[in-house]
Amino acid sequence: MSDLAERLKTGERRALAKAITLVESTRADHREQADALLTTLMPATGGALRLGISGVPGVGKSTFIEALGLLLLERGHRVAVLAVDPSSSVSGGAILGDKTRMEKLSMDPRAFIRPSPSSGTLGGVAEKTREALLLCEAAGFDIVIVETVGVGQSETAVAGMTDLYLLLQLPNAGDDLQAIKKGVMELADLVVINKADLDPTATMRAQAQITSALRLLPTHAHTAPRVLQVSALKADGIAPLWDAIAAQCDARKASGAWQAKRRDQSLAWMWERIRAGLRQAFVSQPGMAARLEAATADVRGGRTPASTAARQLLAAFQSRSAQA
Ligand code: GDP
Repeated sequence: MSDLAERLKTGERRALAKAITLVESTRADHREQADALLTTLMPATGGALRLGISGVPGVGKSTFIEALGLLLLERGHRVAVLAVDPSSSVSGGAILGDKTRMEKLSMDPRAFIRPSPSSGTLGGVAEKTREALLLCEAAGFDIVIVETVGVGQSETAVAGMTDLYLLLQLPNAGDDLQAIKKGVMELADLVVINKADLDPTATMRAQAQITSALRLLPTHAHTAPRVLQVSALKADGIAPLWDAIAAQCDARKASGAWQAKRRDQSLAWMWERIRAGLRQAFVSQPGMAARLEAATADVRGGRTPASTAARQLLAAFQSRSAQA
């Protein structure tokens, strides 16, 4: 184990891949090893810029990440790309973070690309991605990009594990309104309109529309995120976008907001996992299934108040746990 940690810390990509496989494993002995490894590596983590990127399928995420990633390598950074794709267990394969989608980037030894873990629930996938992110940092990657597809709750999970969250949009207004409706815009620190080369006029219009729409969101009344335009395909506008990202990072580090967000995220993560763990222990306690079924029927039928049923179930859970 310490051998793996040592190799990983020298930046060896195979060791990193192996470590991620370990944290993704569902075997109890692997979980123990993974916890030990993460704890050993903890002092070496935290050094990267964690950048979240989302957008609907086809918006150009992989093209964009390739363009941005190559620019960052040129500037001396080491770039890791992870993905959160809760649908991958259903579709039978990770559709995100696929190496074939970022051909040049994936061939460069200074980059590391890893598809989404395909282990069912969003909570589970997000937990493994958070741990993979820490491992990438310990391996010396100073930019970690976490990609997700803009079709569900996964944006919230990614925004909750990254320092800056960037939303990719297409240059047509229909889309933009959808993102606003779904609340995704409220998570964004930067909105990037991609494919500006296709229709510069529509892109300008979209930029103006999104900018004014963002000002109307209560959460953004004072600090509406910047809206920029790029062409990922032509690698146009990528350098100014990186400058905007770097400026936001600097400002947040100077104000302390950066560090505060990291602390909040770590604690939120801890509580998220406690909640998930307790729920799992609760539903899987021997005898609980039958009790839950009876209580569900009683609450549904209006015979027992919901809060009473919950109290009784919790009391039963606690007394059984105490016996165990
Ligand atoms: P993803 O599903 O969000 O990862 O999108 P992809 O990166 O796979 O891109 C989807 C399609 O859009 C591909 O055919 C890309 O070549 C194309 N594309 C991506 N970015 C641009 C762009 O800036 N301009 C144009 N014209 N096409 C782009």
